[in-house]
Amino acid sequence: MANTLPFPGRHGVNDAGHLTIGGCDALELAATFGTPLYVFDEQLIRDNLRAYRAAIPGSLYAAKAFLTVAMAQLVASEGVGLDVVSGGELATALRAGFPAERIVMHGNNKSPAELAEAVSAGVGRIVVDSHRELLMLDEIARSMQRHPAIHLRITPGIKPDTHTYIQTGQLDSKFGTPIADGQAQQLIIDALNCSSIRLSGLHCHIGSQLFDLAGLEAAMRLMVDLMAETRAATGAALPELNIGGGLGIRYRNQDTPPDIATYAAHLIETITARCAVHDLPVPRLLCEPGRSIVGEAGVTLYTVGTIKDVPGIRTYLAVDGGMTDNPRPALYEAVYEATVASRPAAPATKIVTVAGKCCESGDILIRDVALPEPQPGDILAVFATGAYNYAMASHYNRLPKPAVVFCKDGEAHLIVERETYADLYAKDLPLPRAASVTL
Ligand SMILES: *Cc1c(COP(=O)(O)O)cnc(C)c1O
Repeated sequence: MANTLPFPGRHGVNDAGHLTIGGCDALELAATFGTPLYVFDEQLIRDNLRAYRAAIPGSLYAAKAFLTVAMAQLVASEGVGLDVVSGGELATALRAGFPAERIVMHGNNKSPAELAEAVSAGVGRIVVDSHRELLMLDEIARSMQRHPAIHLRITPGIKPDTHTYIQTGQLDSKFGTPIADGQAQQLIIDALNCSSIRLSGLHCHIGSQLFDLAGLEAAMRLMVDLMAETRAATGAALPELNIGGGLGIRYRNQDTPPDIATYAAHLIETITARCAVHDLPVPRLLCEPGRSIVGEAGVTLYTVGTIKDVPGIRTYLAVDGGMTDNPRPALYEAVYEATVASRPAAPATKIVTVAGKCCESGDILIRDVALPEPQPGDILAVFATGAYNYAMASHYNRLPKPAVVFCKDGEAHLIVERETYADLYAKDLPLPRAASVTL
C-alpha cells in the first residue's frame, strides 16, 4: 500500500476517510476489539524481516522489542532467528515452536537456571557477558554433558549519539566486557580454554535508535581489530561476528533514518574493508534488530475522554490508556505523532497535550501535538508504538493490559486477548484467617 499519510509506518485512508492499518479500518478495529488497542501492520513486519534477511542471512529479531507466541511464529515463518534475553522470552519462543538452534540467548546477569534452560533447549548461541558467567556456563555445560556454542559480548568503548538510557557500548556500561583495559582479550583466551563450551565468535551492541552510522562503523573496526589480535595471539580465527541491533526508526514525521539495506551495506563494507587490512577472513555476520522491525508497524488506538482547557496554558486531552501501555515518554522523553482516526487527513488545527489516565503528572504521552479538532469519543491513533510498548507495559493503577491485533490485507487477527480484572488478581492470595482476626 502506498504511504498516503505523512505519519511513520505506511498506513492508508479508506473511502470513508478513516485511517487504515494493514488495510483494516481503525474505527472498526476499535469497535470490535475495544481500546486501548495495539494494532500491527503484519505485512510491514514481514517486509522488514525480509529486508534484513536479504542483507544479512544471519539476522535475528530482538524479541525484547515485542514478543508474543504469534510474533515468534511470524519470525520463524520468515526464516529469521530470535534473540532472547531471559528465561521468560526463551519459554515463550519454545512455546511457539521456534526452532531452538535459531535462538541466541543474551542477558547481562543470566541466572544459573536460565543458563541451564538455554543449554537444555539447545539454543544456537549463548552470548556470554562476563568472566563469571563464562565459568558458570562451562560448569553447567559440563554437568549436563553438552558443548554449547557461545559468543562473547564485548564493549567496544563507543558512545553512540542517542539517549543515554539506550547507549550500551560505552566503557561505563553494565553490559559486556571492555576492550579498553585488556579484559576482552583475556576473556577470549579464557573462553578458548574452556573445555565444555565452543567459542564461535564475538558480539557487540552499542545502542538503540541510531541514525548516524559513524559510531557503529567505528565499533565494527574495533571488533575486527580484536578478532585480528585474537588470531595473532592464539591462532584462532573466530568465524562469527554479531553486530547487534540499534537501527533507528521514524517516530516524528520529519525523521529520516537510513533504510535497512543502506544500514547493512555500510556495515558490511566497513567490516570487509577492515578484514582486508588485517588479511582476516570476513566472519559470518549476525545482527539482531528489534525496533526497526516492529516499531513503525505498530499503532495504538485510544478513545478520547476528558478534554481540559487550562486557558492561556495548554489543553489536556485524556485517553483511556497512558504510561501503562506506553512508558517510553515517561522513561526517556520519547516523542510520538498522532491523529484522529476518523479524519487522519483533516487539517491539524488544535494543539493539545495527550495525557494518560494514571495517577501521575508525568503520565503524558505526547506534549503539544496538533490534531484535527478532537472531541470526546474520537479514536486517537498514536504511531510507531510497535517496539518497547506492549513489551514494557505495566499494571500500574491496576489497568488491564490491552489486546494486540495483527492486520494484513484487510483482515484482523487477535493475537493477545485483552486482560480482564480477574487476570489482575489471579495470583493474589487472601490474608490468612489467623492473621486477619488479631486486629
Ligand atoms: C536491545 C538490544 C537489541 C535490539 O536493539 P534495537 O535498537 O531494538 O534494534 C539487540 N541486541 C542487544 C544485545 C540488545 O540489548
